[in-house]
Amino acid sequence: ILAVEGNPPLNEDGMFCIIGGKPFVEQLRYAAKDCLAVIAWGSCASWGCVQAAKPNPTQATPVHKVITDKPVIKVPGCPPIAEVMTAVVTYMLTFDKLPDLDAQGRPKMFYGQRIHDKCYRRPHFDAGQFVETWDDEAARKGYCLYKMGCKGPTTYNACSTVRWNGGVSFPIQSGHGCIGCSEDGFWDKGPFYHRVTGLNAFGIESNADTVGLIAAGAVGTAIAGHAAVSVGKHVKGKESENDKNEREHV
Ligand code: SF4
Repeated sequence: ILAVEGNPPLNEDGMFCIIGGKPFVEQLRYAAKDCLAVIAWGSCASWGCVQAAKPNPTQATPVHKVITDKPVIKVPGCPPIAEVMTAVVTYMLTFDKLPDLDAQGRPKMFYGQRIHDKCYRRPHFDAGQFVETWDDEAARKGYCLYKMGCKGPTTYNACSTVRWNGGVSFPIQSGHGCIGCSEDGFWDKGPFYHRVTGLNAFGIESNADTVGLIAAGAVGTAIAGHAAVSVGKHVKGKESENDKNEREHV
């Protein structure tokens, strides 16, 4: 099993990242030659992440686009959750097989549901109770962070179940929305604090196999579109008809 962090820059013959006197891409191809499978640790290895953000001058390239003759298991996140990383390796060693993967190459056991599906603030989302500013009464009460840009409805990861630091907490529990760091191309999908809208293609029971690709494409479009329609629309403490419809779609 070859576990890879980061991604190789291909521009200038790989000269933007040299390890032990040789380009990363050369080391990667050499190390992958005889492995059974590759694990791409983190969003950089899985998708390209910040290094591959536009205009990507170094041509940073995710592992699966360089190693094409081996199975590549993506374990995205910036960073990925330690327990998830450990569990993927443990599963492979214990059962002597690869874990079931979704359509994007992520282990279903950890990336099969959205943050939103298991978020402890979800009852507030369903009740239309939202934080409107970072220091309002709703924030103190722990209401839903959707209007503050939370990307939990479009992010597949185990943060809301496994959590972080031995299960102590995760971003939403600390009061900040999910930024969607484990999704493909999240750096190019718009500001962290613009909310996701118009995703009516799937519901709570959907999984990444059926909707992940649709959601990934829709988020950027939806965020840009929403910026135009959301200005000056909200009265503090009162949910508008538009908000209600939008929430029901998510
Ligand atoms: S929008 Fe974010 S804070 Fe609200 S329920 Fe979904 S994941 Fe939790």
